[in-house]
Amino acid sequence: MGLPTERITVTKVFLPPVEEYGEYIRRIWANGQITNQGPLLQEFDTKVKDHLGVEYFHFVTNGTLALQIALRALDINDGEIITTPFSYVATVSSILWERCTPVFVDIEPETFCIDVNKIEEAITSKTKAILGVHVFGNPCDVEAIQSLAAKHHLKVIYDGAHAFGVTYRGKSLLGYGDISTCSFHATKLFHTIEGGAVIVNRKELSDKVDLIKQFGHKGDEHFMLGINAKASEVQAAMGLCNLKYVDEIIKARKIASNLYTELLGDSVRIPISREGVDYNYAYYPVLFKTEEQLIKKIKRLNEANIYPRRYFYPSLNKLSYLQEIQSCPVSEDIASRVACLPLYVGLSNEIIEKIARIVNEK
Ligand SMILES: *Cc1c(COP(=O)(O)O)cnc(C)c1O
Repeated sequence: MGLPTERITVTKVFLPPVEEYGEYIRRIWANGQITNQGPLLQEFDTKVKDHLGVEYFHFVTNGTLALQIALRALDINDGEIITTPFSYVATVSSILWERCTPVFVDIEPETFCIDVNKIEEAITSKTKAILGVHVFGNPCDVEAIQSLAAKHHLKVIYDGAHAFGVTYRGKSLLGYGDISTCSFHATKLFHTIEGGAVIVNRKELSDKVDLIKQFGHKGDEHFMLGINAKASEVQAAMGLCNLKYVDEIIKARKIASNLYTELLGDSVRIPISREGVDYNYAYYPVLFKTEEQLIKKIKRLNEANIYPRRYFYPSLNKLSYLQEIQSCPVSEDIASRVACLPLYVGLSNEIIEKIARIVNEK
């Protein structure tokens, strides 16, 4: 056998040239300010807001706090929240953390997003909001969700942790709903080491988010209960560096994704996006025919030092600490046989070919 091969993981953090980060760090030293709306934070806010074309943007320290702040800002502190079971655990843990009850609605088998046709039957007198997830960067049916929410006087929150850079009908996907959140964690397409965002369209709501994220006060005046979710200048510095590369990052991921699609036969299926979407290639999820097939392929890939991830597994309606077990057959089925293949800047064609070969083997 030849030399041990490099370990290939599902994702690899994008690091900008260290000199460029160093340049920003030098600016922080010159300014003598490392947090609390320092100059880099202000510059980052403006640049990301322009990049996304959204109305109000609040940088926070992670995407989980962004969700919790979204619920607080909309005065949702009890009751039921309709949500999807097919997501990362933070979507549901945020609901539980805010002492609300998640009510799971099953997903669409094509897009893996919440199934709009099943939302209405889940609405009760206790329902306060719909919390959709643009899972893997694929948009929820935002128009249908909006009309349902209007009809039943519900708030709409989107967990857009995967949605940076996605546009739907020519506008940032993060501009939909009463509030959208994003994550800038190191594993995400665009990162600030740790980080996240709360995005809103209304000034009054934006002012509230701004207060909540910094202890609920301005100077000596205390307006409401708040928390500390402020990001720092070093996180803003990473964001400013990476923002310059984000278009290139998306382009590289697109090329890699297209190669996967070209090489992978019909042994697997990938989720289908809606019309009108300009995608960000945040993930490359593949759906195997059976769980047995998935386990076998993961084992074969692991033997070749390649580590895909079972994203998202288990289906969140199965979490052991939930009060009540709700059934979501589509999500449970998909969660049992979906995996994300390695996808990151610098992943070679050779590796993609090798992965496709293993996945395609009988
Ligand atoms: C990553 C992620 C989060 C949490 O973001 P953090 O920045 O890691 O707190 C929330 N929801 C989804 C769908 C995610 O993938």
